[in-house]
Formats: sequence, C-alpha cells, structure tokens
Amino acid sequence: MDGTSRETRVNAAFVAVADTLATNCDIVDLLHTLVQECVGILGMQAGGLMLVDNTGELQLMTSTSEAAGFVEGMQLNVSAGPCIDCFRTGTAVSVKEISESAPWPAFRASASQQGFRSVLATPMKLRGRIIGTMNLFGTHAGEVSARDAAVAQALAISSAVLGTESSAMGPQPAVLLSSWLLRSPAAEFAPLSSRDCRDHHPHDSHAGSVRRAHSSSSQRVDIMKAACFHGRHDIRIDDIPEPQLRPGAVTIDIAWCGICGTDLHEYLEGPIFIPAADHPHPLTHEEVPVTMGHEFSGTVSALGDGVTGLAIGDSVVVEPYFVCNECAPCLAGHYNLCTKMGFIGLAGGGGGLSEKIVVDRRWVHPVGDIPLDQAALIEPLAVGHHAFVRSGAKEGDIAFVGGGGPIGLLLAAVLAAEGITVIMSEPGAARRDMALSAGVAHHVIDPLAENPVARVLELTDGAGADVAFECSSINAVLDQLFDAVKPAGVIVNVSIWSSPAKVDMQKLVLKEIDLRGTIGYVNDHPATIALVQEGKINLEPFITGRIALDRLVEDGFETLIHHKETAVKIIVRPHGE
Ligand SMILES: [Zn+2]
Ligand SMILES: [Zn+2]
Repeated sequence: MDGTSRETRVNAAFVAVADTLATNCDIVDLLHTLVQECVGILGMQAGGLMLVDNTGELQLMTSTSEAAGFVEGMQLNVSAGPCIDCFRTGTAVSVKEISESAPWPAFRASASQQGFRSVLATPMKLRGRIIGTMNLFGTHAGEVSARDAAVAQALAISSAVLGTESSAMGPQPAVLLSSWLLRSPAAEFAPLSSRDCRDHHPHDSHAGSVRRAHSSSSQRVDIMKAACFHGRHDIRIDDIPEPQLRPGAVTIDIAWCGICGTDLHEYLEGPIFIPAADHPHPLTHEEVPVTMGHEFSGTVSALGDGVTGLAIGDSVVVEPYFVCNECAPCLAGHYNLCTKMGFIGLAGGGGGLSEKIVVDRRWVHPVGDIPLDQAALIEPLAVGHHAFVRSGAKEGDIAFVGGGGPIGLLLAAVLAAEGITVIMSEPGAARRDMALSAGVAHHVIDPLAENPVARVLELTDGAGADVAFECSSINAVLDQLFDAVKPAGVIVNVSIWSSPAKVDMQKLVLKEIDLRGTIGYVNDHPATIALVQEGKINLEPFITGRIALDRLVEDGFETLIHHKETAVKIIVRPHGE
C-alpha cells in the first residue's frame, strides 16, 4: 500500500471508529469497527479482538466472521497460538504461512480448517500495559509489511485510548491523531486526558492469565480427546478442538476404531503415510501431529448444509479417503489410485481415534443395524472385498490365501461368503483355529509342519488353485503361490512390502500367471456392508480386544506388536473409560 492510500484509509478508519463512539458509545461496537477497518486496510479477510477482563483473563470481544471467532476461541481454550503469544509478550506476531506454524499444532489445524493461511496478531496497549490483542487473518500466504503492521498497532493503541478515555470523540481529533500516527507509526502516545480510570474501567487492567473456557457470549469451542501421532514411538492422547461442521459434511460421534497394521508401522517406523514435518500432504495441507485411526464406526450427530440420504442417529462407517477428483485415475473412476491420495487418520482430516470427526458426505456409508463394534471392521473387510474383486474369482472357485493376519482372515471371510472354497496357510495356531471356527477357511495349512504347495495340489486333485492371494509380505509365501496356482491362474498381491520382493518370472511366463496388485477399495463399501447385513459374514469372532483410548499404546499397540499370535483386531472406544 502506498503512503497516500494508506493515509486515506487510516483517516477513514479513524472517522469510522470515532463515529461508532459518537453514536452509541458501545465499546464492543467500537472494537468491531476497529477490526473491520484494519482488515480492510491491510488486505486481510477476517479479524478478531481479545481484551483482558476485570479479573485479568483474556476474553474474545468481537470477530468479523464465524471462522475468525472459531480460531480465536480455540486459542483461548488451549491457551496457545500466535494471538496468545502476542498477548503474553506484548510484541506483534506475524505468521506468513500457517501450515508451517509448528509451535501451535491446534491453532494450525483449526486455522487451516477455516481456510486461513496467514495471521497478524497486534498487541493492544494502554499506557504501557498490554490490555489485549487484535488479530487479522488472511486466506493468502504472506507477511504483512512492517509498516502496515505498525499502522495496525497504532490504530489498535489509539482505539484503546479512545475507548477508555472518551465517550464522545468527534472525527476532527481522530483525523489529527491518524496524521500523527502516520509520521511515527509504531509509537505509543499519551492519553488525551490525564484522567486515570484504571480503578473503575473494566478493560483497563494488567495482563493476567489466559482463560481456558471463555464466556458463553462468545462462540464456544469444545475440546475432545484424540490420539495424535507426534513421531516414531510418540503417540499421545491430546486435548484438541472438536472439528467444526461444514457444508456437505457430517459430524460423527465415533463409537469404535480399530487399530490397523498400518498404524503399527507408523508407530514403529513412521512417519510413512503420515506427512512428516515440513512435508504437508498435498490435499489436507496437514503434517505431524495428526490424529490417527481410519477403521471406525459411529453415529451421525449433525448434518451440514446440503447433506442428503442420512439422518441424525444413523449408524455409519467411513471410507477414509482424500482424493483430488482431477487426476487421470480420479477422472477414470479409479479414485483409490488418485495421484495425491491420502487416508483420513493418516494424512490429516482428524481420525477415528478421537471422539468426533467431520467427514464429507461422499465417504459416509450407513450400516443399518450392524452393531457398531463389528462395523469398525468394515474398512479392512472392504480391503478384502477389493482384493476379491481384483482376483475375478467366482462362486465354486478354489482360493489359496497365503497368510492369516487380519487382512488374510477378512479376505477369507469375503471369499467364503461369495461361495469360494478357501485354503489358508498360516503358521499361527490361534489364527488357524480362528479361520476354521469362524468358518472363513475350509482347509488350513501349517507351513512349518507341511508343504503348502503339495497340500494345495492334493486338495485340488493336482490342478492347483484358481486364484491365490499374498497376505504375508514374506517372499517364500509369494514363491509358493506361483507353484500352488493353476496355469493361467491369478495371483493377487494384497501385502504392503517394505523392501522389494523377488519374483520367479520364468514361472509367471510358463504358466501364463496373471499377477495383480490391489490397494484400498473403490466403490466396495456398499457390497461389503451388504455381506455383513445379510448375515453372510459375522465380524464378531475377529474382535480380540476392546480398550479405552487412554490405553491405546499400552494395551493396543504393544499387545499387537508382542502378541500378534492371539491378537487379531483390537478396537478402541474413544468415549469414557
Ligand atoms: Zn488399515
Ligand atoms: Zn486424483
């Protein structure tokens, strides 16, 4: 902004502020006008203003938008953020890219969610005392120039003086003041009268503690518990702001959330899918810390504008994707292959290991009367369903499943429900027993006691399996699939490999084997949910533990790491004990 236009705008701002005073003498109206004028002068999009009350606690006085009010209230609730730092230190805080504002994770998350990218927090001082902060938010990245910041600070200071010292300030002195300020933008100046109103004016007091829960007259921001990934071996149960409902989305009160092998990998070796510090996800713009959990069920508690086909109280599950809707795979309908694909609960957007989440309607699937604990297993079951779809297997076929971990077992459940005979190889006795007792495998093989290939050939009269699935990420198991599958058979790799596998291409060539990948799910949820609703799959046997969120690491992650023989799926209840 050049000097002339700034001077014009600042003069206009003072006239507006003084007019507000002259017409109704309301301090909140005065402050609101001040913030609005400063938002306009500095080319920002919204603003808020906090003042200390007579007990010395910071209060939100006004905001120019609901979004700004939310971000201000959130900072008061968690006692952290640039506006709080500004108040505590008495110096302006300017953040040119909020997504990189590492010191305040809760602020970063809520401000980004509200669409803000930059913020300028300016202290309001009265006779050397810090009485509050004026905070301006931009939807663009970039720093406010030092001179513009100084103008904002001068306006804030002078308005504090106007508000406390005068009840009928006309425009003339205000214009004089502004001219003076432009010559010496960052300076404080003496009050217009020497009257000391410190003892009786409610807004004139020392900066004190920051209130955690502010008054009901301002927008309230509630706090919830969430399991946040801060780094390898560092998952914490944090208090974070509840997510805010937005148009086209629904709020879900989370009932249960499963712990996934992917979560364990993040805990032990991460961040892998979780965006590391300074590497925000391209769609969520979030980075560590993020809330975890992508296998969850819950109850709809609020509907955003424009949401159809759901009602409050519905039991639902979430297909936990972020996709761009623009890349070639997205446009071709293969949204699971989106070039920017991310998972809710890993890439940001909140997660199932928290009390609430807000999710776009597109990804929310009603589950009818499926019990919510079992519904938490729909997501990994959908992974199995997509692997089944990729295999092309049909009723009457014989499938060989290499590995009986959670995904191998749930894939077997889909195959059995589809009328396919399942032969499963799994070294863990408890898992073999579970596969048989749950009725998802018709034959089980202990690969440490017998030759899986010979056994499959025996069970198929020497023909080999029609389809085979790699669910162990063990190279020896992959090798067995090439020998156990029939000529012109299909092998689907379901595993995630942390290092490259070796493939015997000669076997692939000579048997014309079709080796296929599968990742996630695409349009699989409705059919997967139907299999459970129709009673073709009972998920109850696969739930081996139920724990409270507070015990996530001790009773969840550590149990799955050290007792994976007996633990299959541990589900977490984020509410209560
Ligand atoms: Zn998972
Ligand atoms: Zn895409």
